[in-house]
Amino acid sequence: MKNYFKLFLVILSLSTAFYACSSDDDSSNGNINTDNQAPSTFSVTVSATAATGATINWTQATDADGDTVTYNVNLEDAEVASNLSVQNYTFSALSTSTTYSGTVIAQDGNGGETTSTFSFTTSDETTPSTLHLAFAEFDVDNTDIMLSGTNVVIETNGLPNHTSPYWSNTVSRSITGPNGNTMTTVSDSNHPLWVEPTVTSYDQMAPGNIDDFNGSYSLTVSANPQLAANSTSTGLGAIGISISGSVIYNDEEGPNVPLDNAVGSLDYTAAHTGPQSYHYHLEPKAWSNDDENLIGIIADGFFLYGRQCNSTNDYPTNLDASGGHTSTTQHSEGESEYHYHIQNELYLNQYYILFPGDYQGTPSNIQ
Ligand SMILES: [Zn+2]
Ligand SMILES: [Zn+2]
Repeated sequence: MKNYFKLFLVILSLSTAFYACSSDDDSSNGNINTDNQAPSTFSVTVSATAATGATINWTQATDADGDTVTYNVNLEDAEVASNLSVQNYTFSALSTSTTYSGTVIAQDGNGGETTSTFSFTTSDETTPSTLHLAFAEFDVDNTDIMLSGTNVVIETNGLPNHTSPYWSNTVSRSITGPNGNTMTTVSDSNHPLWVEPTVTSYDQMAPGNIDDFNGSYSLTVSANPQLAANSTSTGLGAIGISISGSVIYNDEEGPNVPLDNAVGSLDYTAAHTGPQSYHYHLEPKAWSNDDENLIGIIADGFFLYGRQCNSTNDYPTNLDASGGHTSTTQHSEGESEYHYHIQNELYLNQYYILFPGDYQGTPSNIQ
């Protein structure tokens, strides 16, 4: 029995050695390539459309064999670019108000190809000469808004133009962080816009003061945004810029973390400090409380208004899943246009969520 076992071990080690040897041979020859794998699947997104152009971006297609991947771009079955090493392409000289479709083909140089499709519709406008009237509501000190071709660029320092207990102040407050560490927030002077907390309390306030987050945010959207064929879910971080200068978040506090647990830290205008900014989650009482006031602009270029609509002076009854509808507004000069409203639906019995999503247009990044 013992001998059989030894013999078995010898056979096993011989076969292992042979197997290892043969795979070495494969790689040292370098010409055994009967199983070339095509580049991985990838996705194309349309990042901007204009009257006569569009820009697409795509994710990287990786190659399991380590081959260098390049890309060809086709529009309406005609090749418009080949062997690109970059992952974006801008189309120009297109027709207005036209739907185009095309493909991006990733190729590995060894015959392996993977194709991804895209489609977009050019807008019907020529370059606008004036900003939409709604932009006049944005704080002139905190925001900078300008036309850039057929786009509007909205820049902000992220600061709110109203009072908050989150402005720097001399009251020291401490909170225990996720790692058990203590985070203390205190400043050596009171900001002129600082007020005592009323809705929240020092015990519940999030770490960091507004002034700690003085940053810069930029959003570029079409001056004539269009509804997209498919809606897009919102992500974490800024999803819009409010007229105060501070940014708008959705109804989550972290990755799959509902806002419920953080509600106690929101100030009287439903904002608090976060990892990167002072931001609003709920109806911002500093300037909108059950009314038709403009809240801000969402990342897909559509405006967000309070719970009531100027077109009826009442709560709109025809809102889509994102709180949007098409009607006149106080800024639309008699024209009907798509816009969002804070939905008149209670959250935790006392709040109104600003924008639970999804985007009904094509969102741009706020960066
Ligand atoms: Zn938050
Ligand atoms: Zn409306």
